Amino acid sequence: VELTKDPRQLDLFNPPTTTKIVKEQSLSRKPILLFDMDGVMANYYGRFLELWRSIYTDREFIPEGELKTFYLEDSYREEYREDIRELTTSCGFFRGIKPISGSIETLRKILSDGIFEPFICSSPEVEAEEQCCFSEKAQWVEDHLGREWTERLILTKDKTLVYGDFLIDDKPVIKGINHKKAWTRVVFDQSYNKGVIGPRLNGWADWDKLEPGLLRMFKNMQILEKVALKRNL
Ligand SMILES: [Mg+2]
Repeated sequence: VELTKDPRQLDLFNPPTTTKIVKEQSLSRKPILLFDMDGVMANYYGRFLELWRSIYTDREFIPEGELKTFYLEDSYREEYREDIRELTTSCGFFRGIKPISGSIETLRKILSDGIFEPFICSSPEVEAEEQCCFSEKAQWVEDHLGREWTERLILTKDKTLVYGDFLIDDKPVIKGINHKKAWTRVVFDQSYNKGVIGPRLNGWADWDKLEPGLLRMFKNMQILEKVALKRNL
């Protein structure tokens, strides 16, 4: 086994045993968790309601926890659509969102426990003329978790392209161009995703109950990967 061989010199079509060893070693890694922001870590709808009710005092609103659609504008009257877009795409909207209770403490604990590799994976608003959502999401992470967590922030419009073991997200259906997505999706419980099947996190207080199940699933996936690797030898 030539451990000293320059990796740039490797023949990719005939990999020597060393690359297989490296591959096997990569299987004994920590499970990677991808946490969505809006509706999981950040109370997006709460922020909307706070502004909506202070600007349009005479208009009807849907109380928190009663939305029936993922896109809130689909739950409101058609005539409000433009006003809703204007509000949710305005600069300052994202940075002012309050964290969902327990999210910040739990993420910090996950990192300090050292069992998982936690990352934040969020899709920014890109339709607004001023692209402030990208920077506000980074600022939000810095405000609530600290500067070092901005190194763990992934902003993408397509989460199927991101590598990870579990994606904790509230969106009912997550689509993208990669049909072989790496992660298993965990549903973060919200009123608009009750019908979605799969592992579920019923609020941050339940994280400790979910953790053992995720570890078991990860270990099983590793066994399958190792078996597949041996077959390829
Ligand atoms: Mg979300």
